[in-house]
Amino acid sequence: MTSSRFDLRGKVAVVTGGNGGIGLGMARGLADAGADIAVVGRNEAKSKAAVEDLSQRGVKAIAVATDVTDKAAIEAMIARVVKDLGRIDILVNNAGMSIRKPPHELELDEWNKVIDTNLTSAFLCSKLAYPHLKASGNGKVINIGSMMSIFGASFATAYAASKGGIVQYTRACANAWAPDNIQVNAILPGWIDTDLTRGARQQVSGLHERVLARTPAGRWGDIDDFAGIAVFLASPASNFVTGTAIPVDGGFSVMA
Ligand code: NDP
Repeated sequence: MTSSRFDLRGKVAVVTGGNGGIGLGMARGLADAGADIAVVGRNEAKSKAAVEDLSQRGVKAIAVATDVTDKAAIEAMIARVVKDLGRIDILVNNAGMSIRKPPHELELDEWNKVIDTNLTSAFLCSKLAYPHLKASGNGKVINIGSMMSIFGASFATAYAASKGGIVQYTRACANAWAPDNIQVNAILPGWIDTDLTRGARQQVSGLHERVLARTPAGRWGDIDDFAGIAVFLASPASNFVTGTAIPVDGGFSVMA
Protein backbone atom coordinates (compact mmCIF):
# COMPACT_ATOMS: atom_id res chain seq x y z
CA MET A 1 0.00 0.00 0.00
CA THR A 2 2.75 2.42 0.90
CA SER A 3 4.32 2.24 -2.53
CA SER A 4 1.05 3.15 -4.31
CA ARG A 5 1.18 6.55 -2.60
CA PHE A 6 4.39 7.20 -4.50
CA ASP A 7 3.33 5.53 -7.75
CA LEU A 8 3.60 7.84 -10.77
CA ARG A 9 2.79 5.29 -13.48
CA GLY A 10 0.42 6.81 -16.06
CA LYS A 11 1.51 10.36 -15.15
CA VAL A 12 3.40 12.81 -17.36
CA ALA A 13 5.94 15.25 -15.95
CA VAL A 14 7.41 18.32 -17.63
CA VAL A 15 10.80 19.22 -16.15
CA THR A 16 12.35 22.52 -17.26
CA GLY A 17 16.12 22.31 -17.12
CA GLY A 18 15.65 18.54 -16.89
CA ASN A 19 18.67 17.89 -19.08
CA GLY A 20 21.25 18.34 -16.31
CA GLY A 21 21.98 19.18 -12.70
CA ILE A 22 19.17 19.23 -10.15
CA GLY A 23 16.53 18.96 -12.90
CA LEU A 24 17.99 15.69 -14.13
CA GLY A 25 18.20 14.41 -10.54
CA MET A 26 14.47 15.10 -10.11
CA ALA A 27 13.60 13.70 -13.56
CA ARG A 28 15.39 10.44 -12.71
CA GLY A 29 13.39 10.14 -9.47
CA LEU A 30 10.10 10.79 -11.29
CA ALA A 31 11.00 8.28 -14.02
CA ASP A 32 11.96 5.63 -11.45
CA ALA A 33 8.49 6.13 -9.92
CA GLY A 34 6.94 5.50 -13.36
CA ALA A 35 6.25 8.94 -14.84
CA ASP A 36 6.84 9.70 -18.51
CA ILE A 37 9.08 12.76 -18.81
CA ALA A 38 9.38 15.76 -21.11
CA VAL A 39 12.83 17.28 -20.77
CA VAL A 40 12.75 21.01 -21.53
CA GLY A 41 16.00 22.87 -22.20
CA ARG A 42 18.00 24.67 -24.87
CA ASN A 43 21.10 22.48 -25.17
CA GLU A 44 20.04 19.67 -27.50
CA ALA A 45 23.09 17.48 -26.86
CA LYS A 46 22.45 17.55 -23.09
CA SER A 47 18.73 16.89 -23.66
CA LYS A 48 19.46 13.94 -25.96
CA ALA A 49 21.72 12.36 -23.32
CA ALA A 50 19.09 12.95 -20.62
CA VAL A 51 16.38 11.33 -22.74
CA GLU A 52 18.59 8.25 -23.23
CA ASP A 53 19.24 8.08 -19.47
CA LEU A 54 15.54 8.42 -18.61
CA SER A 55 14.35 5.98 -21.31
CA GLN A 56 16.55 3.30 -19.79
CA ARG A 57 14.35 3.54 -16.67
CA GLY A 58 11.42 2.01 -18.59
CA VAL A 59 9.39 5.16 -19.23
CA LYS A 60 8.74 7.33 -22.26
CA ALA A 61 10.98 10.40 -22.40
CA ILE A 62 11.08 13.18 -24.96
CA ALA A 63 13.18 16.31 -25.33
CA VAL A 64 11.46 19.57 -26.27
CA ALA A 65 13.96 22.26 -27.21
CA THR A 66 12.63 25.41 -25.57
CA ASP A 67 13.89 28.71 -24.25
CA VAL A 68 11.73 29.24 -21.16
CA THR A 69 11.97 33.01 -21.51
CA ASP A 70 10.02 32.80 -24.78
CA LYS A 71 6.23 32.64 -24.33
CA ALA A 72 5.55 31.35 -27.85
CA ALA A 73 8.16 28.61 -27.39
CA ILE A 74 6.51 27.56 -24.11
CA GLU A 75 3.10 27.41 -25.81
CA ALA A 76 4.59 25.18 -28.52
CA MET A 77 6.32 23.03 -25.87
CA ILE A 78 3.08 22.43 -23.95
CA ALA A 79 1.26 21.52 -27.17
CA ARG A 80 4.04 19.11 -28.16
CA VAL A 81 4.03 17.37 -24.75
CA VAL A 82 0.27 16.87 -24.86
CA LYS A 83 0.48 15.62 -28.46
CA ASP A 84 3.32 13.18 -27.80
CA LEU A 85 2.69 12.09 -24.19
CA GLY A 86 -1.07 12.69 -23.94
CA ARG A 87 -1.38 14.78 -20.78
CA ILE A 88 0.45 16.87 -18.17
CA ASP A 89 0.12 15.96 -14.49
CA ILE A 90 3.36 17.32 -13.05
CA LEU A 91 5.23 20.53 -13.84
CA VAL A 92 8.70 21.13 -12.40
CA ASN A 93 9.83 24.75 -12.85
CA ASN A 94 13.56 24.21 -12.40
CA ALA A 95 15.36 26.10 -15.22
CA GLY A 96 17.53 28.79 -13.74
CA MET A 97 20.70 30.83 -13.99
CA SER A 98 22.60 33.56 -12.21
CA ILE A 99 24.63 36.64 -13.06
CA ARG A 100 26.90 37.29 -10.11
CA LYS A 101 27.34 41.03 -9.50
CA PRO A 102 26.60 43.40 -6.62
CA PRO A 103 23.49 45.59 -7.00
CA HIS A 104 25.37 48.72 -8.10
CA GLU A 105 27.12 46.87 -10.94
CA LEU A 106 24.19 44.86 -12.33
CA GLU A 107 22.78 46.22 -15.61
CA LEU A 108 19.06 46.30 -16.40
CA ASP A 109 19.35 43.73 -19.18
CA GLU A 110 21.19 41.40 -16.78
CA TRP A 111 18.52 41.88 -14.11
CA ASN A 112 15.79 41.16 -16.68
CA LYS A 113 17.54 38.04 -17.95
CA VAL A 114 17.76 36.49 -14.48
CA ILE A 115 14.18 37.42 -13.52
CA ASP A 116 12.84 36.19 -16.89
CA THR A 117 14.70 32.87 -16.63
CA ASN A 118 14.10 32.10 -12.95
CA LEU A 119 10.73 33.67 -12.14
CA THR A 120 8.74 34.77 -15.19
CA SER A 121 9.37 31.36 -16.79
CA ALA A 122 7.67 29.67 -13.83
CA PHE A 123 4.69 32.00 -14.22
CA LEU A 124 4.42 31.33 -17.97
CA CYS A 125 4.90 27.55 -17.77
CA SER A 126 2.43 27.24 -14.89
CA LYS A 127 -0.18 29.47 -16.52
CA LEU A 128 0.05 27.64 -19.84
CA ALA A 129 0.12 24.16 -18.24
CA TYR A 130 -2.78 24.98 -15.89
CA PRO A 131 -5.64 23.67 -18.09
CA HIS A 132 -3.82 20.33 -18.36
CA LEU A 133 -2.94 20.20 -14.65
CA LYS A 134 -6.60 20.86 -13.87
CA ALA A 135 -7.74 18.17 -16.31
CA SER A 136 -5.34 15.75 -14.60
CA GLY A 137 -7.53 15.83 -11.48
CA ASN A 138 -4.46 15.76 -9.20
CA GLY A 139 -1.99 18.22 -10.73
CA LYS A 140 1.33 19.02 -9.09
CA VAL A 141 3.63 22.00 -9.54
CA ILE A 142 7.14 22.00 -8.06
CA ASN A 143 9.01 25.31 -8.17
CA ILE A 144 12.73 25.49 -7.46
CA GLY A 145 13.82 28.21 -5.08
CA SER A 146 17.16 28.45 -3.30
CA MET A 147 18.82 29.36 -0.03
CA MET A 148 18.60 32.79 -1.67
CA SER A 149 14.81 32.53 -1.15
CA ILE A 150 15.69 32.96 2.56
CA PHE A 151 19.10 34.64 2.75
CA GLY A 152 20.85 37.33 0.76
CA ALA A 153 24.33 37.45 -0.76
CA SER A 154 26.12 40.46 -2.17
CA PHE A 155 26.67 38.77 -5.55
CA ALA A 156 23.09 37.41 -5.84
CA THR A 157 21.20 40.61 -6.65
CA ALA A 158 18.65 39.51 -9.23
CA TYR A 159 19.02 35.84 -8.32
CA ALA A 160 17.89 36.40 -4.70
CA ALA A 161 15.01 38.60 -5.91
CA SER A 162 13.88 35.90 -8.35
CA LYS A 163 14.14 33.12 -5.76
CA GLY A 164 12.31 35.12 -3.09
CA GLY A 165 9.64 35.75 -5.71
CA ILE A 166 9.36 32.03 -6.46
CA VAL A 167 8.28 31.31 -2.88
CA GLN A 168 5.57 33.99 -2.91
CA TYR A 169 4.45 32.92 -6.38
CA THR A 170 4.19 29.35 -5.07
CA ARG A 171 1.97 30.50 -2.20
CA ALA A 172 -0.31 32.46 -4.53
CA CYS A 173 -0.77 29.52 -6.91
CA ALA A 174 -1.33 27.10 -4.01
CA ASN A 175 -4.27 29.24 -2.91
CA ALA A 176 -5.65 29.78 -6.40
CA TRP A 177 -5.51 26.18 -7.55
CA ALA A 178 -6.42 24.26 -4.38
CA PRO A 179 -10.05 24.00 -5.56
CA ASP A 180 -8.72 22.22 -8.67
CA ASN A 181 -6.83 19.71 -6.47
CA ILE A 182 -3.52 21.07 -7.79
CA GLN A 183 -0.79 21.21 -5.15
CA VAL A 184 1.95 23.80 -5.64
CA ASN A 185 5.14 23.61 -3.59
CA ALA A 186 8.71 24.85 -3.71
CA ILE A 187 12.00 23.11 -3.03
CA LEU A 188 14.84 25.23 -1.69
CA PRO A 189 18.13 23.52 -2.55
CA GLY A 190 21.19 24.20 -0.42
CA TRP A 191 24.59 24.16 -2.10
CA ILE A 192 24.57 21.44 -4.74
CA ASP A 193 27.41 20.31 -6.99
CA THR A 194 26.25 21.26 -10.53
CA ASP A 195 27.43 23.33 -13.51
CA LEU A 196 25.82 26.39 -11.89
CA THR A 197 27.84 26.16 -8.67
CA ARG A 198 31.00 25.04 -10.46
CA GLY A 199 30.84 28.50 -12.09
CA ALA A 200 30.20 30.17 -8.72
CA ARG A 201 33.13 28.34 -7.12
CA GLN A 202 35.44 29.58 -9.86
CA GLN A 203 34.18 33.15 -9.45
CA VAL A 204 33.82 33.46 -5.66
CA SER A 205 37.05 32.62 -3.85
CA GLY A 206 36.72 30.49 -0.70
CA LEU A 207 33.11 29.56 -1.51
CA HIS A 208 33.73 25.82 -1.55
CA GLU A 209 35.26 25.79 1.94
CA ARG A 210 32.68 28.22 3.37
CA VAL A 211 29.83 25.97 2.20
CA LEU A 212 31.44 22.90 3.76
CA ALA A 213 31.96 24.72 7.07
CA ARG A 214 28.42 26.18 7.05
CA THR A 215 26.55 22.95 6.16
CA PRO A 216 25.77 20.68 9.15
CA ALA A 217 25.80 17.60 6.88
CA GLY A 218 29.44 18.45 6.10
CA ARG A 219 29.14 18.04 2.34
CA TRP A 220 27.86 19.63 -0.82
CA GLY A 221 24.56 18.21 -2.06
CA ASP A 222 24.35 15.82 -4.99
CA ILE A 223 21.70 15.80 -7.72
CA ASP A 224 20.51 12.40 -6.38
CA ASP A 225 19.44 14.23 -3.20
CA PHE A 226 16.50 15.64 -5.22
CA ALA A 227 14.96 12.41 -6.51
CA GLY A 228 12.99 11.58 -3.36
CA ILE A 229 11.58 15.03 -2.63
CA ALA A 230 10.47 15.34 -6.27
CA VAL A 231 8.60 12.02 -6.08
CA PHE A 232 6.98 13.01 -2.77
CA LEU A 233 5.79 16.39 -4.09
CA ALA A 234 4.62 14.86 -7.40
CA SER A 235 2.72 11.95 -5.88
CA PRO A 236 -0.54 11.37 -3.95
CA ALA A 237 1.63 11.14 -0.79
CA SER A 238 1.66 14.96 -0.73
CA ASN A 239 -2.02 15.61 -1.52
CA PHE A 240 -2.53 17.73 1.66
CA VAL A 241 0.80 19.56 1.28
CA THR A 242 0.56 22.83 -0.61
CA GLY A 243 2.17 26.28 -0.57
CA THR A 244 5.25 25.07 1.28
CA ALA A 245 8.94 25.76 0.59
CA ILE A 246 10.99 22.77 1.68
CA PRO A 247 14.75 23.17 2.15
CA VAL A 248 16.87 20.29 0.85
CA ASP A 249 20.10 21.65 2.21
CA GLY A 250 21.86 19.32 4.63
CA GLY A 251 20.76 21.68 7.43
CA PHE A 252 22.25 24.88 5.92
CA SER A 253 19.12 26.93 6.70
CA VAL A 254 18.94 25.81 10.35
CA MET A 255 22.62 26.26 11.21
CA ALA A 256 22.86 28.77 14.07
P1 NDP B 1 22.47 23.80 -14.08
O1 NDP B 1 23.19 24.98 -14.66
O2 NDP B 1 23.13 22.48 -14.06
O3 NDP B 1 21.05 23.64 -14.73
C1 NDP B 1 20.28 24.74 -15.16
C2 NDP B 1 19.26 24.22 -16.13
O4 NDP B 1 18.40 25.27 -16.52
C3 NDP B 1 19.90 23.64 -17.36
O5 NDP B 1 19.33 22.38 -17.58
C4 NDP B 1 19.55 24.62 -18.46
O6 NDP B 1 19.31 23.95 -19.67
C5 NDP B 1 18.26 25.22 -17.93
N1 NDP B 1 18.04 26.56 -18.43
C6 NDP B 1 18.67 27.70 -18.08
N2 NDP B 1 18.19 28.74 -18.78
C7 NDP B 1 17.24 28.24 -19.60
C8 NDP B 1 16.38 28.81 -20.57
N3 NDP B 1 16.40 30.13 -20.85
N4 NDP B 1 15.52 28.00 -21.21
C9 NDP B 1 15.48 26.68 -20.96
N5 NDP B 1 16.25 26.09 -20.04
C10 NDP B 1 17.14 26.86 -19.38
O7 NDP B 1 22.14 24.29 -12.60
P2 NDP B 1 21.39 23.60 -11.37
O8 NDP B 1 20.98 22.23 -11.66
O9 NDP B 1 22.24 23.88 -10.22
O10 NDP B 1 20.12 24.55 -11.26
C11 NDP B 1 18.80 24.07 -11.37
C12 NDP B 1 17.89 24.96 -10.52
O11 NDP B 1 18.28 24.81 -9.15
C13 NDP B 1 18.00 26.44 -10.84
O12 NDP B 1 16.72 27.04 -10.73
C14 NDP B 1 18.91 26.95 -9.74
O13 NDP B 1 18.71 28.32 -9.49
C15 NDP B 1 18.46 26.09 -8.58
N6 NDP B 1 19.40 26.03 -7.48
C16 NDP B 1 20.63 25.44 -7.62
C17 NDP B 1 21.48 25.38 -6.52
C18 NDP B 1 22.80 24.73 -6.57
O14 NDP B 1 23.54 24.78 -5.56
N7 NDP B 1 23.21 24.11 -7.67
C19 NDP B 1 21.11 25.95 -5.23
C20 NDP B 1 19.80 26.51 -5.21
C21 NDP B 1 18.99 26.55 -6.30
P3 NDP B 1 20.13 24.35 -21.03
O15 NDP B 1 21.58 24.21 -20.67
O16 NDP B 1 19.65 23.35 -22.02
O17 NDP B 1 19.71 25.73 -21.33
